[in-house]
Amino acid sequence: MSNTAIPLSTEISFADLKLAQPLMRAVADAGYERPTPVQAQAIPLVLAGGDLLAGAQTGTGKTAGFTLPILHLLTAKPVANQRPGRPRCLILVPTRELAAQVEESVQTYGKYLSLKSMVMFGGVNINPQIKALRGQMDILVATPGRLLDHVGQKTLDLSGVEILVLDEADRMLDMGFIRDIKKILALLPKQRQNLLFSATFSDEIKTLADGLLHNPGYVEVARRNSTVELIEQSVHMVPQKLKSYLLAHLIKHHDWKQVLVFTRTKHGANRLAEKLNADGIPAAAIHGNKSQPARTKALAQFKDGSLPVLVATDIAARGLDIDQLPHVVNFELPNIPEDYVHRIGRTGRAGSSGAAISLVDSEELPFLKSIERLIKREIPKVAVDSFVPPANLPAEAPRPPRSQHGQRRHSNTTAGGNRNQPPRDGQGQNPRQKRDQQPRNPQQRDPQARSSQQPAKPREPQKSDDQKHLSEAARHQSMPQPALFSPRPAVRRGR
Ligand code: AMP
Repeated sequence: MSNTAIPLSTEISFADLKLAQPLMRAVADAGYERPTPVQAQAIPLVLAGGDLLAGAQTGTGKTAGFTLPILHLLTAKPVANQRPGRPRCLILVPTRELAAQVEESVQTYGKYLSLKSMVMFGGVNINPQIKALRGQMDILVATPGRLLDHVGQKTLDLSGVEILVLDEADRMLDMGFIRDIKKILALLPKQRQNLLFSATFSDEIKTLADGLLHNPGYVEVARRNSTVELIEQSVHMVPQKLKSYLLAHLIKHHDWKQVLVFTRTKHGANRLAEKLNADGIPAAAIHGNKSQPARTKALAQFKDGSLPVLVATDIAARGLDIDQLPHVVNFELPNIPEDYVHRIGRTGRAGSSGAAISLVDSEELPFLKSIERLIKREIPKVAVDSFVPPANLPAEAPRPPRSQHGQRRHSNTTAGGNRNQPPRDGQGQNPRQKRDQQPRNPQQRDPQARSSQQPAKPREPQKSDDQKHLSEAARHQSMPQPALFSPRPAVRRGR
């Protein structure tokens, strides 16, 4: 499907890239008219056989940027006696959803070729994967944890890998996969082509790239931070306890057909999905505690339009490519401003106008300020005149306090240790389910455990950014707030 929201390369055509005819046909079938900038730059470099360091994130067309030339190279150089369970190309990704999406792209672009691909991730029965590994397989898309399980069981042989891709490398490091990646690198043949894709370049990514890549070609395309203009953004100021009512009202009132809602915690996602269902709005939650089949089913239903609301945590939603998503709602603002940009990047992706709506309690104003600083614009605060809050609110259980430290992430911080807040996804899972979604570094998994094992460092007298934000919030709370909603009874507007 053509994606006109992506800036296309103005000078280079697909014909200029000299891809094999079966790939050109698949690209034409997908409706792509011209390569995106990352494709125009990366494809020639990969075809030339060199290593590549690419700064590009989901939504830029990066998957075709590496998949198309890989398919071309593997077809151009067939190997005699290809053995089962011995891939020629390994694509490592951080999450199950991204793994499934990337492998889908491999199939889409490789549909006129005889190459075979396989996707491998944890949280599902390993036996069908073991069985699949007994057949031909040229391209393997995998999350690190399950891949190592297979290596341990000797069902997978990595000695034939000619091309390695680390996709969303920054997220893999954020999730604590560095040790797994190192173990995997040690299992690969020394002579190979390496491609590293990352949205940000922390010191840790640079170190990884230095050790991995030889004379890499370098490609960087605009960060989504600079393209948020495509998305209509607004804020509704609303107390936390009224948010679910306002959201249900917005969905019904505007007859929203497809809305991705972000919550801060998995419990919050579950509670909200239940509440919406009780309100007659079909919704499902997707996060690390859900079984893989449940996640796959919810995502498929959401994509085909049969499920109007998907409630997700940041990690679960990372890398989701859902075409023409019209609405993204931040049920809570993220602590990390960059996550806001990632979240709203799910909309406005396919030439359709996207809307990103944030429900903001006055306590969250410091987060809003940080986001506005990052995107260099103020997000308009809009009152919802048609919303009348319910007269009798049920008593609410007190909410756990938000982490107040280490909320800001900078691209030059050490990615593995930069999130000092409690993990927002993956708590309370069984260890096998957790494996592919969770930080593997125990300190990252349980910051409380770390603080109880290590002596507390004396506190700096200086105020942290977040402390400053808190005092800012206190100031805001004593200031008059923008109108939240109308005290008048609701008047239904035409749709
Ligand atoms: P990605 O950044 O790889 O997740 O791709 C984001 C979306 O862009 C996917 O839906 C692709 O189908 C689409 N896409 C990739 N390349 C092109 C292109 N050259 N023209 C239009 N859409 C594209």
